[in-house]
Amino acid sequence: MTYSPPVEEQRFLLRHVVRIDELAGHNLFAEATPDLVDAIVAGAGDFAAGIFAPLNRTGDAIGAKWTPDGVILPTGFREAYRAYVEGGWNTLAGPADFGGQGLPLSLATVVMEDLGSANMGFSLVMMLSPGAVESLIHHGSPELQEAWLPKLVTGEWTGTMNLTEPQAGSDVGALKTRAEPTGDGSYRIKGQKIFITFGDHDLTDNIVHLVLARLPDAPRSTKGISLFLVPKMLPDGQANDLRCVSIEHKLGIHAAPTCVMSYGDGDECVGWLIGEENKGMAAMFTMMNNARLYVGLQGVSIAERAMQQAIAYARERVQGSREGRPARIVEHPDVRRMLLRMKALTQAARALAYYTSGQIDRGNVGDEAAKTRADLLTPLVKAYGTDVGVEVTSLALQVHGGMGYVEETGAAQHYRDARISPIYEGTNGIQAADLVGRKIGLEGGEVLARLIAQMRAEAGDETRLMYLVNDCEAAGWSILGAGMDDRLAASYAFLAMLATAVSGWLMARQLAALDGYDGNPAFAQMKRAAARYYLDQIVPETQGKFAAAMATADILYSVPEEAFAA
Ligand SMILES: Cc1cc2nc3c(=O)[nH]c(=O)nc-3n(C[C@H](O)[C@H](O)[C@H](O)COP(=O)(O)OP(=O)(O)OC[C@H]3O[C@@H](n4cnc5c(N)ncnc54)[C@H](O)[C@@H]3O)c2cc1C
Repeated sequence: MTYSPPVEEQRFLLRHVVRIDELAGHNLFAEATPDLVDAIVAGAGDFAAGIFAPLNRTGDAIGAKWTPDGVILPTGFREAYRAYVEGGWNTLAGPADFGGQGLPLSLATVVMEDLGSANMGFSLVMMLSPGAVESLIHHGSPELQEAWLPKLVTGEWTGTMNLTEPQAGSDVGALKTRAEPTGDGSYRIKGQKIFITFGDHDLTDNIVHLVLARLPDAPRSTKGISLFLVPKMLPDGQANDLRCVSIEHKLGIHAAPTCVMSYGDGDECVGWLIGEENKGMAAMFTMMNNARLYVGLQGVSIAERAMQQAIAYARERVQGSREGRPARIVEHPDVRRMLLRMKALTQAARALAYYTSGQIDRGNVGDEAAKTRADLLTPLVKAYGTDVGVEVTSLALQVHGGMGYVEETGAAQHYRDARISPIYEGTNGIQAADLVGRKIGLEGGEVLARLIAQMRAEAGDETRLMYLVNDCEAAGWSILGAGMDDRLAASYAFLAMLATAVSGWLMARQLAALDGYDGNPAFAQMKRAAARYYLDQIVPETQGKFAAAMATADILYSVPEEAFAA
């Protein structure tokens, strides 16, 4: 089953959730005219469906392969990547000073969604480079920018993100990779990184690694980490002293090589500092925030793809009867429940992701309140989007019955692919910790308070949503006043509540926008049903998490650790 881009939905969201016309009113985004926006949405969908989607099964069945000469992708991937670069898709939201088109991130979000739906594993290589670009723009010296940005912006080179080491996963501060200054402005990098996505591949001539490492005598913890640009190929055309030692065998995203990277086996690995010494986490966070938004979006992408397949299957598979005649399973109430739930969850998570990218765009044109709101929402997009991805792909598999569990239909691949997204880019547990540990306390709680106030003002008629918003407010203040263990114990429940409240508010906004809508009637019918289902059934379900969001950590620590193994 191929991918059919949800063009109507994407346009509707850009218009009513992102409100892209407001953005186009700003000088920086003046080129994002309605005609251009429509053309990009249509073109991205066609490109993803036509060029990337046909490679999805090959990517899974054959996958990336390690060879002594480097990692190779299956036949067709190089050509598809070249088409992506030549089509200018990588340049969309790139900085105009370095060859980018300077269009809103919210528009690039649509493209990334399509690529992820078409081929999630492959799309990772496209997803990481924009973060490297962002990091260089905000923290790189003019010399580094000049040398590395232009080809990263076009996509002629790709970027990676190197944080993880065997002993340093969620605890990035535990990393041991070292960087020694050489005196000529460069550094010698030495160490091993694991789990590096697209750490090596044969799609481009060069790969620009962003590597976290420690200087000699750097303070322990995250305060002693610096960020380095470490290219596969040096500017003089020589290969740098780094290599991919092996790649992982894993549950899904087989098209994306997950590399063990060794830097400086011969003590000759050259890197350059990005930003200031010992300030690497700030530079890396610039990259990670971008990637967190896109990983949350991956949940939406894979949910959309899996859902489309489940709907097609449900409309064909005959089983049981209705009104005395053989029925296709789409006619059964419980299958309808699954299909509508998938629609509602996917649309809601998409609205949350698009809205947040629109807030980032507003932040980029100087709207400080939008910028801090995007900071608050980013962990919600990442965790909620990816949890939705897992739930929807699981439901899609369920709709297929036994045929979903066998590989033949492809439903299983979506489920396997989706499962990584709550883990990487900071596990969802870490997102929840970020929410209660840092984000809800932004400006002394004012950022959260403003969000709650806006939701309350705009969602007054939606009684169930109002209850959830009230609960979010009560839980939010209770968590802010609690000790750290109690905050963390409540964190996941609170994240789910707040993400559902924001998504519910955005679904209500879409429902209201349908009043003046004169487009495709089937789209409007489904939008109305999905929004109503979300507001009437999913919102109250999430309200049930209030008890957990208000609870302390006492129950969790009421038993000794040994009792878990009893
Ligand atoms: C396919 C794949 C691709 C990846 N790509 C990259 C990449 O490109 N670059 C890169 O640098 N890394 C990458 N990673 C690494 C990924 O980001 C880490 O796996 C992830 O951050 C979790 O770290 P960990 O695996 O060490 O798990 P751990 O940190 O050991 O976590 C295990 C469990 O404990 C929980 N936990 C840990 N610490 C805390 C805490 N303080 N509070 C609450 N809960 C906690 C976690 O939530 C998790 O449930 C990738 C991983 C995979 C599998």
